[in-house]
Amino acid sequence: MLEIRDLQKSYPIGGTSLHVLKGINLSIKDGEMVAIMGSSGSGKSTLLNIIGMLDELDSGEYILDGLPIKNLTEKKAALYRNKFLGFIFQSFNLINYKNALENVALPLYYQGMSRKDRQEKALFHLGKVGLADWAKHLPKELSGGQNQRVAIARALAANPKLLLADEPTGALDTTTSYEIMAFIQQLNDEGKTILMVTHEEDIANMCKRIVRLKDGVIMEDTKVIQVRADQYV
Ligand code: ADP
Ligand code: MG
Repeated sequence: MLEIRDLQKSYPIGGTSLHVLKGINLSIKDGEMVAIMGSSGSGKSTLLNIIGMLDELDSGEYILDGLPIKNLTEKKAALYRNKFLGFIFQSFNLINYKNALENVALPLYYQGMSRKDRQEKALFHLGKVGLADWAKHLPKELSGGQNQRVAIARALAANPKLLLADEPTGALDTTTSYEIMAFIQQLNDEGKTILMVTHEEDIANMCKRIVRLKDGVIMEDTKVIQVRADQYV
């Protein structure tokens, strides 16, 4: 699915530069469910954003689904993002004046799908996350867990090969977090490749592999026995 070799990334800050990722090597195969862990500031989001083509690496190699990701125009990067990747964020990143259905349908618009097909597909995916009855509701009328499910439906609507999640349970209480994890595990059971950033051990143990970052270096990369989330919900 993806291959990263000797990835380096720095940010310029006030005349000097902050070396954030210092030679990352990471390979993720189809169907994996991987957690990236590390303390705040260790470079987790930077790595996820580079993998998500939201940010660019300075040096090294990144190959996604056989395609070298390098010097892409903004247009091409957007095309690949739409085609390959789905995103979930801690803060859901839904559009607050659009209802659940419209939020899920939006990425399909950028795929050039007709209005009728967008509506149908969006409703199907809302149904899959158990929110068909909430299609007409705005984000402010939904709970945190429901909003994260809308965001998951939106991420899945375009059928991405890889689902990227940055602290997807970071804004949710424990029970709701486990509900979301149970859902993400089910997606992985169905074959979706998942890469998520978390700093919670219990959430990381619900993945199948944990990559630990410290100061921009991978300190540990181990397979784990996956704890099933549905036993808690
Ligand atoms: P994490 O997600 O592990 O908390 P980040 O990847 O967000 O860490 O950040 C790693 C370091 O890079 C932090 O010190 C952060 O302040 C810095 N950083 C992140 N993004 C930028 C940016 N766009 N410009 C400058 N510094 C940044
Ligand atoms: Mg972060």
